[in-house]
Amino acid sequence: MLLPDLREDFPLLTRTVRNGKPLVYLDSGATAQKPRVVLDAEREFYEQHNAAVQRGAHLLAEEATELFEGARGDVASLVGAQSQEIVWAENATAAVNLVASGIGNASAGIGGDEAARFKIGPGDEICVTETEHHANLVPWQALATRTGATLRWIPVDDQGRMILDDLDSLVNERTRVLAFTHVSNVTGLISPVGALVARAKAVGALTVLDGCQSVPHLPVDVKALDIDFMAMSAHKMLGPTGIGALYGRKELLDALPPSIFGGGAVKVVTMEETSWQEAPMRFEAGSQPVAQAVGMGAAARYLAGVGMDRVEAHEREIAAVMRAGVAEIPGVRLLGPVGSADARDVIGVASIAVDGVHPHDVGQVLDDAGIAVRVGHHCAQPLHRKFGVTGSTRASAHVYTTREDAEAFVAAVATVPAFFGVN
Ligand code: PLP
Repeated sequence: MLLPDLREDFPLLTRTVRNGKPLVYLDSGATAQKPRVVLDAEREFYEQHNAAVQRGAHLLAEEATELFEGARGDVASLVGAQSQEIVWAENATAAVNLVASGIGNASAGIGGDEAARFKIGPGDEICVTETEHHANLVPWQALATRTGATLRWIPVDDQGRMILDDLDSLVNERTRVLAFTHVSNVTGLISPVGALVARAKAVGALTVLDGCQSVPHLPVDVKALDIDFMAMSAHKMLGPTGIGALYGRKELLDALPPSIFGGGAVKVVTMEETSWQEAPMRFEAGSQPVAQAVGMGAAARYLAGVGMDRVEAHEREIAAVMRAGVAEIPGVRLLGPVGSADARDVIGVASIAVDGVHPHDVGQVLDDAGIAVRVGHHCAQPLHRKFGVTGSTRASAHVYTTREDAEAFVAAVATVPAFFGVN
């Protein structure tokens, strides 16, 4: 079921590009456009309420703090969390790093006894998957290097699906962390979260979910998924840049050491030592990105208002149109599952490789037609390597994407092989 046309809510989508062509924006996987309610929320904050939060003794500080904490509540309720389980972070990358660095700090002895449960070292294992965005791979590589733990990974097949045959040996009694994406930013495949979480729980490993490409596009309930941590980015959720969030189970967040140290996050500071606030404040040292948080809260309310189940249905349909269309074009290879039965757990994305044509050149042809897509490896080099390509051209949808946008993409891709004389 497609959503009604929501483009009127998004001022940028009314502009034209390249000699007056209407904009077909299919790069929402990189960053989404912003509805007017998000822009208004940020502007109103600056025009009416701007003040530092959690520290002033004046009315503006009170109002700003209320808006800031209200936004935390809005983000929490979008994903089924408690307010105090949401930590502001710069983006999803920062949110993953917050967990990895916190574990690293605990392993170095920071955080004392309460943090001892997070300690890892030689003989321990961290498990990721081959489909990860670099944001959910590189921090774990660094943590392994820093602590002497071993990094392992769940491989994917030639369609990009995780191969779970050896799950029990890859995630075993030595595994301390299992970090994996909810939705692939290259194939749009939805991961088998249930099976992965069940295995992690069976061996007592922490789970870290990369929700960057799921929270904006489908209903996510962190309690139902039973995960320990989840990273998200506002700018992919129709919100502002410069802010994201980490969900963490409260009892874990209250024990994990911070990764950024400073003012606002502390209880008592002496010249020798410091005790930290409970979560989320212990992770939020320094001045806060208040207007950005307010904008992220507005984005969460907007998405909830549209209804995440309707967003999911919409994006499945858009993806199906794009994927079925490009799969028919000779010389064009769709990365990920092909065919409607295989594609049932795919959402919002179509990444293609055109025989004999560099992804940047494909992007150029589409851009000439007013179609904005992403080209390159999309920060997922291992997955592209698995597919035997160095990069791809990715079209990605959001709530405002129309069937016409999807059809325009397919029509423009169909011109590419002939344009470069490769068919
Ligand atoms: N994880 C996935 C699956 C992504 O697609 C992205 C961004 O493309 C990220 C993490 C990193 O997000 P950010 O750059 O907002 O930190």
